[in-house]
Order: sequence, then structure tokens, then C-alpha cells
Amino acid sequence: MKNIKIKVKITLWYTIFMTLLVILILVILLEAGSSRFLSNTTNRLKNTVLRSFREISFENNRLGFDADFVIEGLENGIYLSVYDMEGNYLHGRLPSFYNGPAYLIMDTIQEEYDFYTHWYIYDYRTDVQGYGRVWVRGIVSQTPNDQTLEILVRLVLAFLPLLVICIAVGGYYITKRVLAPLTIVTRTAQEITHGNDLSKRINLSEGKDEVHLLASSFDHMIHRLQDAFDREKQFTSDVSHELRTPTSVILAQCEYALSQDVDREEALECLNTVKLQAHKMSQLISQLLTLARSDQGKLTLNPEDVNLSELSLIITEEQQLIAREKEITIHPDIAPDLILKADETMIMRLLINLISNSIHYGKKGGNIWLTLRPGKEGIEGSVADDGIGIPSQHLENIWKRFYQVDSSRSSQKSGAGLGLPMVKWIVEAHGGTIQVESLPDRGTTFRFFLPFGSEMTD
Ligand code: ADP
Repeated sequence: MKNIKIKVKITLWYTIFMTLLVILILVILLEAGSSRFLSNTTNRLKNTVLRSFREISFENNRLGFDADFVIEGLENGIYLSVYDMEGNYLHGRLPSFYNGPAYLIMDTIQEEYDFYTHWYIYDYRTDVQGYGRVWVRGIVSQTPNDQTLEILVRLVLAFLPLLVICIAVGGYYITKRVLAPLTIVTRTAQEITHGNDLSKRINLSEGKDEVHLLASSFDHMIHRLQDAFDREKQFTSDVSHELRTPTSVILAQCEYALSQDVDREEALECLNTVKLQAHKMSQLISQLLTLARSDQGKLTLNPEDVNLSELSLIITEEQQLIAREKEITIHPDIAPDLILKADETMIMRLLINLISNSIHYGKKGGNIWLTLRPGKEGIEGSVADDGIGIPSQHLENIWKRFYQVDSSRSSQKSGAGLGLPMVKWIVEAHGGTIQVESLPDRGTTFRFFLPFGSEMTD
């Protein structure tokens, strides 16, 4: 059964079921029709026979029959006839070509068939005063109406094989049409498997039935798979790209330092460059590790009571030293005693990342405003600058890994487009939100919200 196609299976079950149903309906119809007819006819037959005795009398030494005897019977469609105790016919009417069974049987309905007609016969005997016992026989045939029903039912039964074929063909055609999209689903799945082409889609027309839902879920799943594969490919190429530059610099510097005509001072300079590039790589690797751990759900936060006001003042002071090189001033506007349950190291990373970006992408002599205020359910903060800003078409992409608006702008910086994805992850892991607003040449503002509580998601 498992090897039979589903279309055939459904057709088979459906045909069997429909055939049985038709047979059942016909049998019920036939039974109900004939039993209703039988009870009507036999009652009529019995009553007429019993009533007819009233029309028989014994007068002047002979049996007399009322004129109504035959007529009343015929009015009910019943042939009445009278017999003596020996079974000799005395009076009455019989159907033209049928005399009824030879034996008279008391108070019993007998059934007989001749060529075309189904007959019912009822015999009864009783005493006629002065004469003794006589038999009255009533004979009635099936009415045309009942016959029609019977003929119809028999006709349907005779054509049943044809009906079954029609049901099967119709059922198969309908099932085939309904299941047609499944064939497309299977074909697409096979094409994807054999050709390794994740860009293929089923693309069924609009529809809300199960098969259409299955097809759209399948398309959605492949879309997500393709996204994941693309991201993985992109990730690998980005990582290789980011590691290639510092590695080549390190190799070149080492080769130069090891060559013969290099004095100590030049060698030291080379070492410094190597150190800088190694530092860049180490930072990149540590950021990658953090993101990879967060992806796997392995990065656990250590929530503790953090005095955000104090922490951000310390960070501001440190960053101010770096900012001074570009004559940038940091303006802290921090409400006192902002306590928050959070992972201190992560919160530090968040603030340092945002402020160092503002320094890096700030203009010489510019400003950075760090604001932290208590809100209803958490801390509302912002890091704003009057730096070079971000063109609007890049805004939604800056949260993506390795995304850099313009790598030439970031070249002086040790980051590789992993800072903001990290920031976003930290905020969201603490149950908060972060948005960015920016205008090219006017500046950028990052606004974030961190809940007081411990709604952390690892
Ligand atoms: P990167 O290491 O390149 O700075 P980030 O993830 O920190 O990576 O930032 C992504 C991109 O967003 C950067 O390439 C930069 O162009 C842009 N960006 C981030 N912060 C600012 C800012 N304060 N002003 C202007 N551009 C910014």
C-alpha cells in the first residue's frame, strides 16, 4: 500500500466508499418502498376480503351475492372470488390470465410472480348462516407506481459498474487537480537537492488551502536557508578579507626587519607596526568570538548592580584623553546615581564603542554629548556628535556584521564593522532597544534604552 501513489489511494478509497454508499441507498430505497407498498396493499387486501363476507347470504336455499361484491373489490384494485369447502369456484372475478395458487390457505398472504406482475393473494373462510363455510380469495397486483420505483432501483443496480467507473474517473481527476501543486513542490525540492540551487522557488499562485500553505512555507524556508548560506559565505569572505590586510602588513614588516641592511631604529619601527596590526587582529578575533558565542547562546551575562552614572563618568574621562587629539570635547550630561542591574563589562563596551565611533567619525574641534536620564522603566541614554554623519541609504545596514559605510573612512580605526552589531546585541541582551538618527555633515545620534530590571536574554 505504501508504494501506491497517493492519488490512486484516495481514488480507491473514495470509489469504494461511494459505491457502498450508492448500494446502501438503493437497498434502503427498495426496502422502504416495498415494505410501505406491502403493508398498504396487504391491509387493503385483507380488509376487502373480510368485508366481502357481508355481501354473501343464503336465501331460498341458494347462495346469494350482492351486486357490490365484485364492484367494491375492483374499486380497490382487488379481484374477489368465492369457493366452497372443496375449493370449487362459486362466484366472483379473477384476473384474465391468472387464477391464483391452487391451494387455499387460511389467513395468509401469498406472493407470486408471473411474467410481468407481482401478485399478492389472501384467502379467508367463514360461516354463511344456513349454508356452512365458504372461502373468499382476494388477488391484487403491484401498483404501477411501486413498480416504477422497483424498476428504477433495478436499473441503477444494473448500471452500477458504469457508475463506479464514473465515480473512479471523476475522483481521480479531482484528486489529481488538488494534488497537482504537490508535484511542483516535490519537483522543486528535487531540483534544489540535485542542482544545489537555493534560488529556486515553488511560487504557487495565491491560495489559502493546505497545499498552498505548504508551498509558501516551503518557499519561506528555502528563502531563510538561502539567507543563512549567503550570510555564512559573506561572513567567511569578510573575515578573510579583514585578516588578510594585517597579515600581509605583518609579513612584509617582518621580512623587511630581517633583511641585512636594517638598523635598530628601523627594526623597532617595524616591530611597532607589527604590534599595531597584531592588536587590530586580536581585537577583531575577540569581537568575532563574542558574536559567535552570542549566536550559539553560549555568552552568559553576569548581572550585577551597576552604578551607570559613575561608570560613564570614568569612561568619559578616559575617552576625553583620546578625543583631545582631534580637539573634540565630550559633554557629559549624566543624572546622578543611576543604578541598573546589568553586565558591567558589556555596558562598558557599549559606551566605549559608541563614544569611540563618535570620536573617530567626528570633525576636528567637534563635540560629543553623552546623556543618561532615568526613565519610567529604565535608563534613557544617547551619544550624539556633530561629526561626518551617515548617509540615509546606509542607516539600516550599519547594524549588520562587517558593514562599513565607506571603508576609507574606517581605515584609521582598528574596527572592521563589528562594533555596532556588538552594541546592538548588548542592548538587546539586556532587554533594551537602540536607534540611530543621522544627517551627513551634521552629525549622528544613537539613542538607547536599558531597563532597570534583569530582563536579560542570554
Ligand atoms: P567600524 O569599525 O567600521 O566603525 P562599526 O560597526 O562601529 O564599524 O560602524 C559601522 C559603520 O557605521 C562605520 O563604518 C561608520 O561608517 C558608521 N558609523 C558608526 N558610528 C558613526 C558615527 N558616530 N558617525 C558617523 N558614522 C558612524
